[in-house]
Amino acid sequence: MNDTFQPIDAAQVPRFAGPTTFMRLPAVSGAEGLDIALAGIPWDGGTTNRAGARHGPREIRSQSSLMRRVHHVSGTEPFSLVKVADVGDVSVNPINLLDGLKRIEAGIAAIVAAGALPLIAGGDHLTTLATLRAVAQHGAIGMIHFDAHSDTNDTYFGDNPYTHGTPFRRAIEEGLLDGRRVVQIGIRGSIYEPGEHDWARAQGIRIIYMEEFVRRGVEDVMAEARAIVGGSPSYVTFDIDSIDPSMAPGTGTPELGGFTTREAQAMVRLLEGVNIVGADVVEVSPPFDLGNLTALAGATMMFELLCVMAKGVAARR
Ligand code: MN
Ligand code: MN
Repeated sequence: MNDTFQPIDAAQVPRFAGPTTFMRLPAVSGAEGLDIALAGIPWDGGTTNRAGARHGPREIRSQSSLMRRVHHVSGTEPFSLVKVADVGDVSVNPINLLDGLKRIEAGIAAIVAAGALPLIAGGDHLTTLATLRAVAQHGAIGMIHFDAHSDTNDTYFGDNPYTHGTPFRRAIEEGLLDGRRVVQIGIRGSIYEPGEHDWARAQGIRIIYMEEFVRRGVEDVMAEARAIVGGSPSYVTFDIDSIDPSMAPGTGTPELGGFTTREAQAMVRLLEGVNIVGADVVEVSPPFDLGNLTALAGATMMFELLCVMAKGVAARR
Protein backbone atom coordinates (compact mmCIF):
# COMPACT_ATOMS: atom_id res chain seq x y z
CA MET A 1 0.00 0.00 0.00
CA ASN A 2 1.26 3.47 -0.87
CA ASP A 3 1.41 5.97 1.99
CA THR A 4 1.26 9.13 -0.12
CA PHE A 5 -2.08 8.95 -1.90
CA GLN A 6 -4.40 8.27 1.00
CA PRO A 7 -7.57 10.09 2.04
CA ILE A 8 -7.60 12.20 5.19
CA ASP A 9 -8.56 9.96 8.10
CA ALA A 10 -12.07 10.90 9.21
CA ALA A 11 -11.24 9.64 12.70
CA GLN A 12 -8.58 12.37 12.92
CA VAL A 13 -10.10 15.23 10.92
CA PRO A 14 -13.92 15.26 10.64
CA ARG A 15 -15.46 15.06 7.19
CA PHE A 16 -16.69 18.64 7.24
CA ALA A 17 -13.22 20.02 7.93
CA GLY A 18 -10.10 20.37 5.84
CA PRO A 19 -9.63 20.91 2.11
CA THR A 20 -12.40 19.96 -0.33
CA THR A 21 -10.90 17.41 -2.69
CA PHE A 22 -12.40 14.31 -4.32
CA MET A 23 -12.76 11.65 -1.60
CA ARG A 24 -10.47 13.72 0.69
CA LEU A 25 -7.47 12.61 -1.35
CA PRO A 26 -4.34 14.73 -1.76
CA ALA A 27 -4.52 17.56 -4.30
CA VAL A 28 -1.69 17.28 -6.83
CA SER A 29 -0.70 19.49 -9.74
CA GLY A 30 -0.26 16.76 -12.38
CA ALA A 31 -1.08 13.12 -12.99
CA GLU A 32 2.54 11.90 -13.06
CA GLY A 33 2.95 8.84 -10.87
CA LEU A 34 -0.79 8.24 -10.58
CA ASP A 35 -2.73 5.21 -11.78
CA ILE A 36 -6.05 7.05 -11.73
CA ALA A 37 -6.50 10.83 -11.80
CA LEU A 38 -9.68 12.40 -10.43
CA ALA A 39 -10.39 15.57 -12.39
CA GLY A 40 -13.14 18.16 -12.60
CA ILE A 41 -14.49 19.78 -15.76
CA PRO A 42 -16.43 22.84 -14.52
CA TRP A 43 -18.02 23.70 -17.84
CA ASP A 44 -21.59 23.68 -19.17
CA GLY A 45 -21.15 25.57 -22.43
CA GLY A 46 -23.00 22.83 -24.34
CA THR A 47 -26.18 23.05 -22.26
CA THR A 48 -29.34 23.80 -24.24
CA ASN A 49 -31.79 24.35 -21.37
CA ARG A 50 -31.10 24.46 -17.62
CA ALA A 51 -27.44 25.29 -17.03
CA GLY A 52 -25.43 24.86 -13.85
CA ALA A 53 -23.35 21.72 -14.44
CA ARG A 54 -20.30 24.02 -14.34
CA HIS A 55 -20.82 23.93 -10.56
CA GLY A 56 -20.85 20.11 -10.53
CA PRO A 57 -17.21 19.33 -9.73
CA ARG A 58 -17.05 21.54 -6.65
CA GLU A 59 -20.23 20.13 -5.13
CA ILE A 60 -19.34 16.55 -6.02
CA ARG A 61 -16.00 17.08 -4.27
CA SER A 62 -17.87 18.31 -1.21
CA GLN A 63 -20.27 15.35 -1.10
CA SER A 64 -17.45 12.88 -1.84
CA SER A 65 -16.16 13.56 1.67
CA LEU A 66 -18.72 10.92 2.68
CA MET A 67 -16.89 8.10 0.86
CA ARG A 68 -15.05 5.55 2.99
CA ARG A 69 -12.07 3.31 2.24
CA VAL A 70 -13.67 -0.04 1.48
CA HIS A 71 -16.40 -1.04 -1.01
CA HIS A 72 -18.97 -2.84 1.09
CA VAL A 73 -19.93 -5.44 -1.55
CA SER A 74 -16.75 -6.22 -3.49
CA GLY A 75 -14.41 -5.51 -0.58
CA THR A 76 -12.30 -3.41 -2.94
CA GLU A 77 -9.91 -0.96 -1.26
CA PRO A 78 -9.15 1.42 -4.14
CA PHE A 79 -6.70 3.62 -2.22
CA SER A 80 -4.59 0.55 -1.41
CA LEU A 81 -4.77 -0.99 -4.88
CA VAL A 82 -3.79 2.09 -6.90
CA LYS A 83 -2.31 5.56 -6.65
CA VAL A 84 -5.18 8.00 -7.02
CA ALA A 85 -5.37 11.72 -6.28
CA ASP A 86 -7.28 14.89 -7.17
CA VAL A 87 -5.55 16.65 -10.07
CA GLY A 88 -7.93 19.60 -9.84
CA ASP A 89 -10.08 21.11 -12.57
CA VAL A 90 -9.01 21.29 -16.19
CA SER A 91 -8.80 24.74 -17.74
CA VAL A 92 -12.10 25.91 -19.24
CA ASN A 93 -13.53 28.89 -21.08
CA PRO A 94 -17.09 29.72 -20.00
CA ILE A 95 -17.76 32.15 -22.84
CA ASN A 96 -16.14 30.45 -25.86
CA LEU A 97 -17.40 26.98 -26.75
CA LEU A 98 -14.71 25.90 -29.21
CA ASP A 99 -11.89 27.19 -27.02
CA GLY A 100 -13.55 25.50 -24.05
CA LEU A 101 -13.50 22.15 -25.85
CA LYS A 102 -9.84 22.65 -26.78
CA ARG A 103 -8.84 23.41 -23.20
CA ILE A 104 -10.73 20.41 -21.86
CA GLU A 105 -9.12 18.11 -24.42
CA ALA A 106 -5.67 19.44 -23.51
CA GLY A 107 -6.32 18.97 -19.80
CA ILE A 108 -7.43 15.36 -20.19
CA ALA A 109 -4.68 14.64 -22.74
CA ALA A 110 -2.13 15.65 -20.10
CA ILE A 111 -3.58 13.02 -17.75
CA VAL A 112 -3.45 10.38 -20.48
CA ALA A 113 0.12 11.36 -21.42
CA ALA A 114 1.16 10.92 -17.79
CA GLY A 115 -0.05 7.32 -17.97
CA ALA A 116 -3.04 7.73 -15.67
CA LEU A 117 -6.68 6.87 -16.29
CA PRO A 118 -8.98 9.89 -16.01
CA LEU A 119 -12.03 9.64 -13.75
CA ILE A 120 -13.92 12.86 -14.28
CA ALA A 121 -16.68 14.91 -12.69
CA GLY A 122 -18.45 17.14 -15.23
CA GLY A 123 -19.64 19.38 -16.56
CA ASP A 124 -22.33 18.89 -19.16
CA HIS A 125 -22.25 15.94 -21.57
CA LEU A 126 -20.51 17.85 -24.33
CA THR A 127 -17.38 17.68 -22.15
CA THR A 128 -17.26 13.95 -22.94
CA LEU A 129 -16.58 14.73 -26.61
CA ALA A 130 -13.46 16.67 -25.63
CA THR A 131 -12.46 13.88 -23.27
CA LEU A 132 -12.90 11.23 -25.96
CA ARG A 133 -10.65 13.27 -28.27
CA ALA A 134 -7.95 12.94 -25.61
CA VAL A 135 -8.60 9.32 -24.68
CA ALA A 136 -9.17 7.79 -28.15
CA GLN A 137 -5.99 9.09 -29.79
CA HIS A 138 -5.08 5.70 -31.25
CA GLY A 139 -8.36 4.72 -32.87
CA ALA A 140 -12.03 4.23 -32.12
CA ILE A 141 -12.91 2.80 -28.73
CA GLY A 142 -16.05 1.28 -27.20
CA MET A 143 -18.36 2.97 -24.74
CA ILE A 144 -20.91 2.07 -22.11
CA HIS A 145 -23.28 5.03 -21.80
CA PHE A 146 -25.83 5.44 -18.99
CA ASP A 147 -28.30 8.20 -19.86
CA ALA A 148 -31.93 9.13 -20.34
CA HIS A 149 -30.85 10.54 -23.71
CA SER A 150 -28.97 9.15 -26.68
CA ASP A 151 -27.12 12.45 -27.24
CA THR A 152 -26.71 11.59 -30.93
CA ASN A 153 -28.70 14.46 -32.44
CA ASP A 154 -27.13 16.35 -35.33
CA THR A 155 -27.52 20.10 -34.77
CA TYR A 156 -29.38 22.62 -32.60
CA PHE A 157 -30.46 26.26 -33.14
CA GLY A 158 -29.68 26.20 -36.81
CA ASP A 159 -26.49 24.42 -37.68
CA ASN A 160 -24.72 24.36 -34.29
CA PRO A 161 -22.98 20.98 -34.11
CA TYR A 162 -21.71 21.18 -30.52
CA THR A 163 -24.24 20.82 -27.70
CA HIS A 164 -24.77 18.31 -24.90
CA GLY A 165 -27.36 16.67 -27.17
CA THR A 166 -24.84 15.90 -29.94
CA PRO A 167 -21.52 14.66 -28.45
CA PHE A 168 -21.74 11.03 -29.54
CA ARG A 169 -22.77 11.82 -33.12
CA ARG A 170 -19.65 13.98 -33.36
CA ALA A 171 -17.53 11.31 -31.63
CA ILE A 172 -18.56 8.69 -34.19
CA GLU A 173 -18.04 11.10 -37.10
CA GLU A 174 -14.57 11.91 -35.75
CA GLY A 175 -13.67 8.22 -35.49
CA LEU A 176 -13.39 8.32 -31.69
CA LEU A 177 -16.09 5.71 -31.06
CA ASP A 178 -16.80 2.41 -32.81
CA GLY A 179 -20.61 2.43 -33.01
CA ARG A 180 -20.74 -1.37 -32.96
CA ARG A 181 -19.05 -1.28 -29.56
CA VAL A 182 -21.30 1.39 -28.04
CA VAL A 183 -24.26 0.59 -25.78
CA GLN A 184 -26.67 3.15 -24.35
CA ILE A 185 -28.68 2.12 -21.29
CA GLY A 186 -31.70 3.84 -19.74
CA ILE A 187 -32.83 5.87 -22.76
CA ARG A 188 -36.33 7.29 -22.28
CA GLY A 189 -38.51 10.37 -22.46
CA SER A 190 -40.22 12.20 -25.27
CA ILE A 191 -38.21 12.83 -28.44
CA TYR A 192 -38.20 15.48 -31.15
CA GLU A 193 -39.25 13.22 -34.01
CA PRO A 194 -40.12 9.55 -34.61
CA GLY A 195 -36.84 8.60 -36.29
CA GLU A 196 -34.61 10.40 -33.82
CA HIS A 197 -32.58 7.32 -32.89
CA ASP A 198 -32.34 5.87 -36.42
CA TRP A 199 -28.95 7.43 -37.12
CA ALA A 200 -27.49 5.97 -33.92
CA ARG A 201 -28.83 2.51 -34.70
CA ALA A 202 -27.48 2.73 -38.25
CA GLN A 203 -24.01 3.24 -36.73
CA GLY A 204 -24.42 -0.01 -34.83
CA ILE A 205 -25.15 1.59 -31.47
CA ARG A 206 -27.21 -0.69 -29.23
CA ILE A 207 -29.92 1.35 -27.50
CA ILE A 208 -31.44 -0.31 -24.43
CA TYR A 209 -34.51 1.72 -23.56
CA MET A 210 -35.60 1.96 -19.96
CA GLU A 211 -38.60 -0.25 -20.65
CA GLU A 212 -36.35 -3.08 -21.87
CA PHE A 213 -34.11 -2.59 -18.84
CA VAL A 214 -37.11 -2.93 -16.51
CA ARG A 215 -38.20 -6.15 -18.28
CA ARG A 216 -34.77 -7.79 -18.24
CA GLY A 217 -33.12 -6.52 -15.09
CA VAL A 218 -29.63 -5.42 -14.13
CA GLU A 219 -27.66 -8.67 -14.56
CA ASP A 220 -29.00 -9.56 -17.99
CA VAL A 221 -28.56 -6.06 -19.40
CA MET A 222 -25.04 -5.70 -18.06
CA ALA A 223 -24.05 -9.10 -19.44
CA GLU A 224 -25.07 -7.83 -22.87
CA ALA A 225 -23.28 -4.52 -22.31
CA ARG A 226 -20.03 -6.31 -21.40
CA ALA A 227 -20.34 -8.52 -24.48
CA ILE A 228 -20.85 -5.48 -26.73
CA VAL A 229 -17.70 -3.66 -25.60
CA GLY A 230 -15.65 -6.88 -25.31
CA GLY A 231 -12.08 -6.72 -24.09
CA SER A 232 -10.89 -3.72 -26.10
CA PRO A 233 -10.43 -0.22 -24.64
CA SER A 234 -13.72 1.30 -23.59
CA TYR A 235 -14.97 4.49 -21.99
CA VAL A 236 -17.74 4.65 -19.39
CA THR A 237 -19.93 7.74 -19.28
CA PHE A 238 -22.58 8.19 -16.63
CA ASP A 239 -25.13 10.97 -17.16
CA ILE A 240 -26.73 11.60 -13.76
CA ASP A 241 -30.09 12.12 -15.49
CA SER A 242 -30.18 8.37 -16.08
CA ILE A 243 -31.18 8.24 -12.40
CA ASP A 244 -34.78 9.12 -11.61
CA PRO A 245 -35.30 12.82 -10.79
CA SER A 246 -36.81 11.82 -7.43
CA MET A 247 -33.32 10.68 -6.44
CA ALA A 248 -31.25 13.02 -8.63
CA PRO A 249 -33.24 16.21 -9.23
CA GLY A 250 -30.26 18.49 -9.74
CA THR A 251 -29.71 18.10 -13.45
CA GLY A 252 -30.39 20.04 -16.63
CA THR A 253 -32.74 17.66 -18.44
CA PRO A 254 -34.65 15.53 -15.91
CA GLU A 255 -36.76 12.62 -17.23
CA LEU A 256 -39.24 10.63 -15.17
CA GLY A 257 -39.00 6.86 -14.91
CA GLY A 258 -35.26 6.51 -14.37
CA PHE A 259 -32.92 4.16 -12.54
CA THR A 260 -32.94 4.01 -8.79
CA THR A 261 -29.58 4.83 -7.26
CA ARG A 262 -29.49 1.19 -6.14
CA GLU A 263 -29.87 -0.06 -9.73
CA ALA A 264 -27.21 2.37 -10.93
CA GLN A 265 -24.75 1.16 -8.31
CA ALA A 266 -25.47 -2.48 -9.16
CA MET A 267 -24.86 -1.82 -12.86
CA VAL A 268 -21.51 -0.11 -12.34
CA ARG A 269 -20.34 -2.98 -10.12
CA LEU A 270 -21.01 -5.30 -13.07
CA LEU A 271 -18.47 -3.39 -15.20
CA GLU A 272 -15.77 -5.48 -13.57
CA GLY A 273 -13.58 -7.01 -16.25
CA VAL A 274 -14.25 -4.25 -18.80
CA ASN A 275 -11.08 -2.62 -20.15
CA ILE A 276 -11.94 0.87 -18.91
CA VAL A 277 -9.64 3.61 -20.24
CA GLY A 278 -11.53 6.46 -18.58
CA ALA A 279 -14.87 7.40 -17.12
CA ASP A 280 -16.99 10.37 -16.18
CA VAL A 281 -20.07 11.39 -14.24
CA VAL A 282 -21.74 14.36 -15.92
CA GLU A 283 -24.72 16.73 -15.78
CA VAL A 284 -24.86 17.24 -11.99
CA SER A 285 -26.28 20.78 -11.71
CA PRO A 286 -26.11 21.98 -8.08
CA PRO A 287 -28.36 25.06 -8.61
CA PHE A 288 -31.26 22.66 -9.31
CA ASP A 289 -30.32 20.22 -6.54
CA LEU A 290 -32.23 19.49 -3.34
CA GLY A 291 -30.30 18.72 -0.17
CA ASN A 292 -27.22 17.90 -2.26
CA LEU A 293 -28.87 14.59 -3.24
CA THR A 294 -27.68 14.71 -6.83
CA ALA A 295 -24.13 15.65 -5.94
CA LEU A 296 -24.08 12.77 -3.45
CA ALA A 297 -25.34 10.44 -6.18
CA GLY A 298 -22.59 11.74 -8.47
CA ALA A 299 -19.89 11.30 -5.84
CA THR A 300 -21.12 7.80 -5.04
CA MET A 301 -21.14 6.78 -8.72
CA MET A 302 -17.56 8.08 -8.97
CA PHE A 303 -16.58 5.90 -6.02
CA GLU A 304 -18.29 2.89 -7.62
CA LEU A 305 -16.42 3.58 -10.88
CA LEU A 306 -13.15 4.08 -9.01
CA CYS A 307 -13.45 0.68 -7.31
CA VAL A 308 -14.05 -1.11 -10.62
CA MET A 309 -11.25 0.80 -12.37
CA ALA A 310 -8.78 0.24 -9.52
CA LYS A 311 -9.43 -3.48 -9.57
CA GLY A 312 -8.88 -3.50 -13.34
CA VAL A 313 -5.59 -1.60 -13.08
CA ALA A 314 -4.35 -3.94 -10.35
CA ALA A 315 -5.37 -7.02 -12.33
CA ARG A 316 -3.45 -5.86 -15.44
CA ARG A 317 -0.19 -5.30 -13.54
MN1 MN B 1 -26.28 12.97 -21.70
MN1 MN C 1 -29.19 12.97 -20.37
